[in-house]
Amino acid sequence: MTETYQGKCHCGAVQFTVELDSLDSFYCNCSYCKRRSATLIRVDEDKFTLTSGESNLGVYGSRDFSKHHFCKTCGINCFTKLTRETGNATVVNTGCIDEIEFDSLSPSLFDGANKL
Ligand SMILES: [Zn+2]
Repeated sequence: MTETYQGKCHCGAVQFTVELDSLDSFYCNCSYCKRRSATLIRVDEDKFTLTSGESNLGVYGSRDFSKHHFCKTCGINCFTKLTRETGNATVVNTGCIDEIEFDSLSPSLFDGANKL
């Protein structure tokens, strides 16, 4: 069943909604994600809506297909936009969603260090 969740950065400037079919989450061991240690969920582009804070977003990423979006005020990375031949997607930082408890997730490992 699809549920809609509200997400936000730490200071609340950046807010979004995301529709999730499941809480199928993962860690990524690429050089960026390893450093932030976030638990992530990937959704198709149309399941994610930025509702506040577009002008407060900074964008980071050296690769064309992967752009990390963070709040310029509190520094929290809220989501990453992926543009790939397999389809556009958004990878959400589950820590930004208050309704999702850390211990309700069983993240798998995505081997981004070798696959990206
Ligand atoms: Zn913020």
